[in-house]
Order: sequence, then C-alpha cells, then structure tokens
Amino acid sequence: MKKQITWKKIKSETQSVWGGETKSFPDGATQTPTVNSVAYAYKDLDEWEKVSKGDKPGHIYGRNTNPTVSVLEEKIRILEDAEAATSFSSGMAAISNILFANLKPGDTVVAGKDTYGGTSKIFLEFLPRFDIKVELCDTTDHKLIEQKINENCQLLYLETPTNPTLKIQNIKWLSDIAKKAGALVVVDNTLATPINQSPLSLGADIVIHSATKFLCGHSDALGGLVCGDKDNIHRIFHFREINGASLAPNAAYLILRGMKTLALRVEKHNSNALELANWLLNHPKIDQVYYPGLETNSGYKIAQSQMKGFGGVLSFTLNGEENVIPSFISKLRFAHAAAHLGSVETIVGPPKTTSHVENTSEERELLGIPENMLRCSVGIENIDDIIEDFRKTLESL
Ligand SMILES: *Cc1c(COP(=O)(O)O)cnc(C)c1O
Repeated sequence: MKKQITWKKIKSETQSVWGGETKSFPDGATQTPTVNSVAYAYKDLDEWEKVSKGDKPGHIYGRNTNPTVSVLEEKIRILEDAEAATSFSSGMAAISNILFANLKPGDTVVAGKDTYGGTSKIFLEFLPRFDIKVELCDTTDHKLIEQKINENCQLLYLETPTNPTLKIQNIKWLSDIAKKAGALVVVDNTLATPINQSPLSLGADIVIHSATKFLCGHSDALGGLVCGDKDNIHRIFHFREINGASLAPNAAYLILRGMKTLALRVEKHNSNALELANWLLNHPKIDQVYYPGLETNSGYKIAQSQMKGFGGVLSFTLNGEENVIPSFISKLRFAHAAAHLGSVETIVGPPKTTSHVENTSEERELLGIPENMLRCSVGIENIDDIIEDFRKTLESL
C-alpha cells in the first residue's frame, strides 16, 4: 500500500479504514505508531534548517506538528475531500481558533442562534469584547440570514443539524449568498459527520468537527479537526501553532483508531436513530420528536437534498405538565446519562446539563430549547433492545 492513490474515486468506507495510513512505518508496523516525542533530531544543521523552513518533510516541535497527528489530519482531509486539514485539542479549540484567526475588530459574524452551547458563548461573551459584532438569526429563517449577510458579514457560521433541536440549514443556498458578499463560510459538521454530509462540496470554505463525538466514537479522546483550502488552513494552523491548542498524540491515536470504523458506525447510527424516531413519533406519551429524517420535520426536504443519512442524534419532549425527564433518564437500562454524543453507546441527557449547560434557563428559552426536552444520541446497539428499553421506561412513568 505505498502507491499514490486518487482518493476522490475511493468510497468512504475504504477512506475511513485506509485514509492517511498508506505510508510505511518503522519496522514494518502496520498500525500508525503513537509518537510521543516532542522534539526531533537531524543529520546536521543543514537538514534541520530545511525541515524548519518546510523545504524537507519532517517535524520540529510537538506544538507545531506530530507524525501521529499528521496521519489523522490526512484521514479527515481525505474524508472531507479537502485540500488541507489541521487539528486541535478539542472541538471548541478548533472553533475559537477559526474565529480568532479570521476576525478583527469591526467585523460581523452572522450565525444561527442555536449553535452548540460553547460556540454560542464565544459569540455572546467573547467576540463582543474584541469589538466583533455577532448577528444571531433565527436558525432556519434563511431570508433573515440572507438579509443579515447582505447588510454586513465577514464570516457566516453554520451548524447543521443543530444540537439539540436538529434544525437544518441549507448549506449551498446560504454559502452562495455569503460568497457573493465576500464572507468566509464555516460549517460545524459534527452531528452529520463526513459520511452523511460534505459541506465543502456544497460551497463552504471551512468545515469543523468536534472529533470527540462520532469521529472518535468511543468517548475516550478529545479533539477538533478542521478542513478547507490550503490558504485558509494555513492561516488557522499558524494561529494554533502559536497559541498552542495542539492535539495530543495519544488522543490522535484513539481518534484515528475510532475513525477506521466511522462509515460502518454511522450507517448503524443512521438506521437506529430513524427507527427510534419513528417509534417515538407514534407513542402516546411523546409530545414532539426532533429528527430531520422524519418526513414531518420542517427541515426534511433540505436534509434529504444535502445529507446521505440523517445522523444518530434526535431529541424529544414528553407530554404533560410535570417534568418526568429525571425519572425517565434514571430508568433506562441501556443508556448512559452523560454530557456527550456520538459514541457507540446510546447516551441521553437534557440540554440543560449537556449541550447548553453553559447557558442560563432564560437563554435556553430564548434559544427555543424546552426544559422538558431529552436529547438522545442513539448508539450502535441492536435497535430492538433500545426500543424495548424505551417502551418499558415510558410505560412506567
Ligand atoms: C461537542 C460539540 C462541540 C465542541 O466540541 P468539544 O470537542 O467538546 O470541544 C462543537 N460543536 C458541536 C456540534 C458539538 O456537539
């Protein structure tokens, strides 16, 4: 496996397994080694200088680049069909680095108002301190977003599907408008994964992943990955190599290992979540089900046109005045109650202790997130067991 490969022609299952991992490793190891070394040695000063100037491949210092991390960056680059990729210590590090590497005082960011909780904190608390204006629009009001882009916008920030209400934004339509206005388009692709959605092919400039979620898939490593063209990625990488939000080699290894099964897992997440969503929809104790794969969902048509599958995350609310979410959560047998998503196990949690823990209840209400909502990241278990677990739990309430 040492030949040049035209990855465009290779299917995502194969890319997940082989992407980035086709070069030879020391002693013929078939698996990417975890290189924990921070420093590197050279034949002589001449070689050292060449590597440091980028005239010869190699590494200088762990904050800048690392061999294990590079393999992971290459894998996501291939899966997103991007020119370049870089990495971060977490998804939030990736998001803040993209924003701070590209914005300056006086600029305006346009975004939907229900972005991930941490992201919305950056928008509401930190960017304004640097005299950067953030226009938070109703997430699915595409006409309003268009208007705000055309008023003044240097960066359009999209997240689709959103967390936890699974709203859908039309990436191609909004990217076209932003491009005409000269704005940079950033898409958080965490919930969709590159298996279900390819924002760059729809016109986005930069795609970001919290690799902590589906890419890693096993809830045991934090990371952030960013893809785009060479210039954009270089600017973001340069900011990161200086501020130091670098991905640790051990975390990179775990994410790399998780990503080998990404295509396989996502297929299962997609079918399990769709089945559970349809089942919940018909249950008398369930009020609303939020899942873009349901034909009754307002985002269904756009989702169908830009996604290959609808993902593993859904949310729902229960009927009645009383908040029964706490007892529902404690009665499930096959679900972790945790502030996380995208793992092989089913995970449940209310937004107030998960995605929007950083927000006050007033802020959550403004974001349209009901207090009696439960988010469910459907795992890869047999769906019959999950449904049976949900059925028994709902009956007992
Ligand atoms: C979790 C998450 C993030 C933040 O990622 P971390 O790795 O936890 O920093 C960003 N966006 C979305 C959609 C997420 O779910």
